[in-house]
Amino acid sequence: MALAGDTHGLWSASAPPAPPTRPLDDHRTADFVIVGAGYTGLSAALHLAERKASVVVLEAQQIGAGGSGRNVGLVNAGLWLPPDEVLAALPEPFGERLIEQLGNAPELVFDLIAWHDISCEARRSGTLHCAVGAAGLKELQAREQQWRRRGAPVQLLNASQTRERIGGGDYAGSLLDRRAGTIQPLAYARGLAAAAIRAGARLHAYTPVLSRTAECGAWKLTTALGSVSAPVVLLATNAYSEGPFADLQRELVRLPYFNLATAPLSQALRRQILPGGEGCWDTPTLLSSFRLDAAGRLVFGSVGALRGAGSAIHRHWSRRALARIFPELRDISFDYAWYGQIGMTPDAIPRLHRPDDGVFAVGGYNGRGIAPGTSFGRELARLALGETAVADLALPLSNLARARFRTVQEAYYEAGASLAHLVAERL
Ligand SMILES: Cc1cc2nc3c(=O)[nH]c(=O)nc-3n(C[C@H](O)[C@H](O)[C@H](O)COP(=O)(O)OP(=O)(O)OC[C@H]3O[C@@H](n4cnc5c(N)ncnc54)[C@H](O)[C@@H]3O)c2cc1C
Repeated sequence: MALAGDTHGLWSASAPPAPPTRPLDDHRTADFVIVGAGYTGLSAALHLAERKASVVVLEAQQIGAGGSGRNVGLVNAGLWLPPDEVLAALPEPFGERLIEQLGNAPELVFDLIAWHDISCEARRSGTLHCAVGAAGLKELQAREQQWRRRGAPVQLLNASQTRERIGGGDYAGSLLDRRAGTIQPLAYARGLAAAAIRAGARLHAYTPVLSRTAECGAWKLTTALGSVSAPVVLLATNAYSEGPFADLQRELVRLPYFNLATAPLSQALRRQILPGGEGCWDTPTLLSSFRLDAAGRLVFGSVGALRGAGSAIHRHWSRRALARIFPELRDISFDYAWYGQIGMTPDAIPRLHRPDDGVFAVGGYNGRGIAPGTSFGRELARLALGETAVADLALPLSNLARARFRTVQEAYYEAGASLAHLVAERL
């Protein structure tokens, strides 16, 4: 059984091994250097290497160490914001471009998985966004209308249809999105890495980049034992940015999110709970999510960090919350527990930066990074190859701006989630 401090919980226990790599220990030159081996960096590396470019990926820790190895595994279409709010937040033509790109992004993920034969428990069985109360249902009705206007295969289910698909719960309805599905997140990251390496990318895990300097018309990225020089640098460090890229982290407010995985359910329970294999989350701001993995474990999550007092509070609350949805799971044990940090932007729109000539950074997916990270990784590769121009991307370039009152907001989210779960547990 993994302890609360185990960073990647169930996903490290059930993922196939990472492709073997070794830390960088010499000087290299390349066409492109990528920092960060999460979905964004790995997708960029794969798409660059497939075009026969010479590309080096430098990762501070293991492959998928950041959000990519810790998340819920819901491969969602679109952003957290409903389409009309994306349009309101971005100048044209970026809004419609972003909606279209990210609406199609799950297709890219599942195509890559099939094409590269990535073993990551992929199931394109749809997702259910579950409505809590009348307000939740109203929100989902608006989302359904906005996506349907764009021809997306979404369907609002009533309370009894929702209950039938979930096998429990008391939701007012749900929005079924057939574009979406679930994966084993760390296995997907490792599979993308293996595909990129097969295509010719050189990947060095456990190789933090310590500095970035200009030298002879290229950028030199220095690590403890080596360096890489390349004219183009792609920064894919997102909410886990460290060292010389810490500014990218400081533009985000990090929201902690935890997951607990039960023991495998019995065959009888598996026939009853989520028999269709959808991934689920609900409408409250302090949301919960649940899904099954391939072994039939129920992975249940919510906002909060499993550290300090939060560790016990969130576990106790989760037991009760899970039993409210599935009373038959009242006594089930949790075998794994882990958490990670979601990078949030003030307007819930991801960010694209060009901090220097030949240097690009993308991130801030607001808890929607599997499909967007994969998709923006491909866009960065196209941009780096000159196949697309900055003006043709789905995000405008923006300046790096430090998030206001970031430390206070982060403390508020972490303490607020603990307090809310503590109070809810005592009601
Ligand atoms: C708990 C949780 C649940 C989530 N649930 C979902 C979900 O269900 N669906 C969904 O779509 N999204 C979800 N997300 C969001 C999603 O996981 C992220 O948006 C996505 O993984 C980001 O990918 P990335 O490649 O941009 O960054 P990351 O995966 O965070 O990768 C960044 C990498 O950069 C490396 N790095 C940083 N600094 C340096 C340096 N100086 N040198 C070298 N390497 C460096 C880090 O070690 C890290 O591995 C969730 C996130 C969390 C934390």
